[in-house]
Amino acid sequence: MATELLFRDDAYLRTATAHVVAASDRGVELDRTIFYPLGGGQPGDTGLVIRANGERILISDTRKGDALNSVVHVPAPGMPQLTVGETVSLEIDWDRRYALMRLHTALHVMSCVVVAPVTGGNIAPERARLDFDIDMNLLNAEKIERETNALIARAVETETVWITDADLDAQPELVKTMSVQPPRGAGRVRLLKIPGIDLQPCGGTHVRNIGEIRGIRVARIRNEGKRNKRVEIVLSSAAVSG
Ligand SMILES: [Zn+2]
Repeated sequence: MATELLFRDDAYLRTATAHVVAASDRGVELDRTIFYPLGGGQPGDTGLVIRANGERILISDTRKGDALNSVVHVPAPGMPQLTVGETVSLEIDWDRRYALMRLHTALHVMSCVVVAPVTGGNIAPERARLDFDIDMNLLNAEKIERETNALIARAVETETVWITDADLDAQPELVKTMSVQPPRGAGRVRLLKIPGIDLQPCGGTHVRNIGEIRGIRVARIRNEGKRNKRVEIVLSSAAVSG
């Protein structure tokens, strides 16, 4: 069953109420959720599902379900089973998610500083990385850091844009400006736009203003294979969330 994905319209929702629509050994499905499921290099959210009687179910991971847009909330071992139909409150681990949002958006910015095909990527709460198909000699940590931080300092607002396959076909020049080619066939595609900096298809959660990233540091650059030169970044300063 499809879940209403509240984080798609507002990545800053920390709490919400929902109804349980399915509960199995695999996890809990709700009619709506603020929990982002693992995908696109961004890990699934952790947090709490709180029952009407105050009982707290610890959620240790969130995954996509079998149906389109379905989300499975995975409880930590030993948690009580929820009942279909019951009303629950949701609470995500906001500090962890906000760090993921800042690092995720930072990767969008960095992908415009390193001009090369992206061959991989991953985001964790403490660090994030992109792999590039590029010559190692062209990767300079100090330069990547300086140029990425200069873009972050522009503090521009990010925008989520939905576009249909028909719109894409009608505007081939739009696809040329994207750093990653959009997938076709799903009817419409969600794009993250950082005006003047980046435009690419992405279903993840991002900060509203890239200034919220504050700054990044290149932690290391490593050769992970012929087409994988890995640039790993960390946030250079702690931000006060919200
Ligand atoms: Zn993204």
